[in-house]
Parts: sequence; structure tokens; C-alpha cells
Amino acid sequence: MSPGVAPVQRSVLGLPVHVNCDYAQWLVDQLRQGRGVHVVTINAEMAMAARTDEQLRSIIQNAGLVIPDGAGVVWALGLTGQKVPRTPGIELVEQILPKLIPTEKVYLLGAKPGYAERVAQQWQIKFPNLKIAGYRDGYFRPEEEDQVLEQIVKTLPSLVLVGLGVPRQEYLIQQWRRQLPQSLWIGVGGSFDIWAGTKERAPQFFRDNSLEWLYRLYQEPYRWRRMLALPHFALTVLAEGVKR
Ligand code: UDP
Repeated sequence: MSPGVAPVQRSVLGLPVHVNCDYAQWLVDQLRQGRGVHVVTINAEMAMAARTDEQLRSIIQNAGLVIPDGAGVVWALGLTGQKVPRTPGIELVEQILPKLIPTEKVYLLGAKPGYAERVAQQWQIKFPNLKIAGYRDGYFRPEEEDQVLEQIVKTLPSLVLVGLGVPRQEYLIQQWRRQLPQSLWIGVGGSFDIWAGTKERAPQFFRDNSLEWLYRLYQEPYRWRRMLALPHFALTVLAEGVKR
């Protein structure tokens, strides 16, 4: 896997997943060539949602980069003999940040009031060369969307991190990125909560054993209904395999 090599496209439930690539380096290369990219970090829940949500499906199919964020997606690729490492979106962003030069600014949008600001402050210390374009919480009404976009565009960010949850972040990125087509746009889900220190990532043991979902269920038991998407995803992947 050499830096800058273009990703290879594979498929899970008819959706693209890109593999065999140093994603962070490839994205920075794209940025420097003036090519913006919409990055989707796909997991089982999103893949299942895309089966009934046509707009989400089309966004994933047209995204410049779809990375295997969830253990379920990695498992599904493995069933067809494709061993790929899992790359959570949160880790991808942490790999991109130190590569940015001061003219490549980052905008943070999402999470509860104060969180994005706290993350921006921490990043200024952790990555002294990183320039923050701006930040704003993710609790705004649909009628405020134009104003939020205007705030972002004004700061000319090279990287826009949108953490509003799926699928709203994907819908907005699709709609908004026309205004900044040369930037990288990444839907980061609940990553700001983790960076801000208000939620914890699963300990390494859970990550290494594809059990991050189990830790999340323990942390946020009210998500159990959403998590039914996981066994549903597994059964659907197996059923599609049998059909073939
Ligand atoms: N969020 C937000 N605005 C909203 C609803 C949610 O900014 O109107 C944030 C929420 O605070 C959290 C993130 O979106 O930080 C969603 O996190 P979750 O872990 O549910 O993301 P997903 O599982 O969809 O990736």
C-alpha cells in the first residue's frame, strides 16, 4: 500500500467500499490537486438505512471515498475473501490533521453547544500547525441551514467535518459541497463527543475483537433498537450471497 495510490472499489450490498489505500494521504493529494472529495464512513447501520433511503443510497454511490468504518462491513468484505483493515472515520480524521499545512484550514460543525469549540482548542495544542477555520454546534433548525452554510463558506476551509448523525450530515454535505467543491467533506457522526471527552471510545480489546458495537450498547443502552440493524445486516449479506 503506497501513499497516494488510488483506492480500489469493492461492493457490500450493492454499495461501494474503497480499500487498499492510504486514505489520509490520498485525500491530502486530492486536496492539493484541487479535487474535493465527499468521504462517507460506512457501517452496517448505514448500509441497511441505504436499502430504503434512496437519497442516502445515491449519496453513498456517488461519494468520492467510502471507507469501511464498521466491523460488519469488514466482515462482509471478508466473506468474499477480501481481508481489509477497519478504518473508523475518527481515526481517518486524526491521520489527516497532522498532514495539513497552515493554508489548509479545518471547520468543525456538529455536536452540542461548546463541544466543537473545545475540540478546536485541544487540536490547537495537539497540532500546532493546524489552522481552525471555525466551529459551530450542530443544533440548528432547517431554516438556519443557509446561514450555517454561509458561515462555513466565508472561512474557506479545506476540510469540513460534519458531525450531525446519519443521514442528515450526508444530506447536508451533498447539498452544501457545491459551494466548496475543492474541499474535503467528511461526515463524522458522534466523533466530536469523543474528541471533546464527553464519550469514550471502546477500549482496545473491544476494538481489536470487532466488539466496539457491544461497548457502545453498554454505554448507550437506549440505542438497542438502532443496533438491531447489525444482525439484520449480517442476515441480508448472507442471503444475498446465497442468492448469487
Ligand atoms: N447532533 C447534532 N445535531 C442534531 C442531532 C445530533 O449535532 O440535531 C450530533 C449529536 O450531538 C452527536 C452526533 O450528532 O454528536 C450524532 O452522533 P451519533 O453517535 O448518533 O452518530 P451516528 O451513529 O449517526 O454516526
